[in-house]
Amino acid sequence: MLRRGKQTDLVKYEYSKEFALAMDAKDPLKAYKDRFFRPEVNGNKALYFCGNSLGLQPRTAGQFVQEVLDAWAAKGVDGHFEGSNPWFDARLRSKPMLAKILGAKNSEVVAMNSLTGNLHLLMVSFYRPTRERFRILTEPDIFPSDRYMLESQVRLHGLDPKEAIVVARPRPGEHVLRTEDIVKVIEENEESLALVFMSGVHYLTGQFFEIPAISRAGRKAGARVGFDLAHAAGNVPLRLHEWEVDFAAWCSYKYLNSGPGNVAGIFVHEKHGHQPELPRLAGWWGHQEEARFSLNTDFKPMAGADGWQVSNNNVLALAAHEAALEIFEAAGMDSLRRKSELLTGYLEFLVETVAKKHQVLEIITPRNPAERGCQLSLLVHKRGKALFEALYAEGVVGDWRDPNVIRFAPTPLYNSFEELFHFAKILERTLENLGAG
Ligand SMILES: *Cc1c(COP(=O)(O)O)cnc(C)c1O
Repeated sequence: MLRRGKQTDLVKYEYSKEFALAMDAKDPLKAYKDRFFRPEVNGNKALYFCGNSLGLQPRTAGQFVQEVLDAWAAKGVDGHFEGSNPWFDARLRSKPMLAKILGAKNSEVVAMNSLTGNLHLLMVSFYRPTRERFRILTEPDIFPSDRYMLESQVRLHGLDPKEAIVVARPRPGEHVLRTEDIVKVIEENEESLALVFMSGVHYLTGQFFEIPAISRAGRKAGARVGFDLAHAAGNVPLRLHEWEVDFAAWCSYKYLNSGPGNVAGIFVHEKHGHQPELPRLAGWWGHQEEARFSLNTDFKPMAGADGWQVSNNNVLALAAHEAALEIFEAAGMDSLRRKSELLTGYLEFLVETVAKKHQVLEIITPRNPAERGCQLSLLVHKRGKALFEALYAEGVVGDWRDPNVIRFAPTPLYNSFEELFHFAKILERTLENLGAG
């Protein structure tokens, strides 16, 4: 299978600058970091490990956006149909690039709207509860926006979230879910399950869920299966078509480096994309293109994911998105994943090496590289916020999650082994200082 059982070639990590530099020297993606702007903290170049929250800006983003501004200035309304990138078709350029990242057909993906809004649109089509089948299975510590989304959808159908939403939980003393336990809860709710809705990579623990197995179990139970890929898109290898996921959505500002709040995307499996009778919330941009501007036509959805569009494309936003996607296209997800496993493996080794004697840091992200993306989540047992702030003062940008988790996500596009070595030196010193203070 694609992601299980395939371990990173064994690398013997070392806590030395020479080792880190040697790893960088043989990194085929080392030049990619120069394609991004680098933020500063306290006047120094940041050690930026926060691509899980907001990816860095590609140096080409401004130019891509400027081209749209220029066309708008020069052509006004004619820009919809004229020029090298007519806005009427603006969504088309990102499709093949997104399809590769998501493991989908071009017709199954489209960039549009924002993540939570898209999830609502997709739920209207894929959460169709009946008296018997109304339950939704999801994960623990679900992202707040997803919880509000699920609960409000459940209430929209006159149901009680307490009865309708079922949560699969880790075993006592464990931080992450076992696939067999998720499958067990699906089977236990087989009669009443309408939907399995989970994230691809969990935002808090960094666990990369076994999507094919979960999808198979959900299908077998007669439920629909949907994924929030906010932390998965551009981070881990995905094969949504082959895994027969019914629907998915993601945002573009995390690993996809497309800028704050930028245009999101959806996947609808082709088995649903050609069913015009599937209920949906409609708008003119999902209506068949040739009749989009005609009056008095009844709504006929476009085939594929495009049929879920509601509004005019976010053309300026798409421009920055394309600048970022072109970098993925050039680097390739396979190479990115290979480097990502090595980088995160090195971070894991370094944290264990420098933090061992203090016994305050516990890595809650799965240890098997196949079960995680690039993020490592550290549970801090003592003075977590102080540690986080002291690291930030030294230029280390990670992020803090109450009550006691620090997340670091070294990304293969713009982070290096040397940066991780540098980080480890800072962490070692900071832990000493905090321990003494
Ligand atoms: C980041 C994130 C979101 C954000 O939703 P927006 O609609 O883009 O604000 C939603 N769900 C998950 C799991 C996330 O990680």
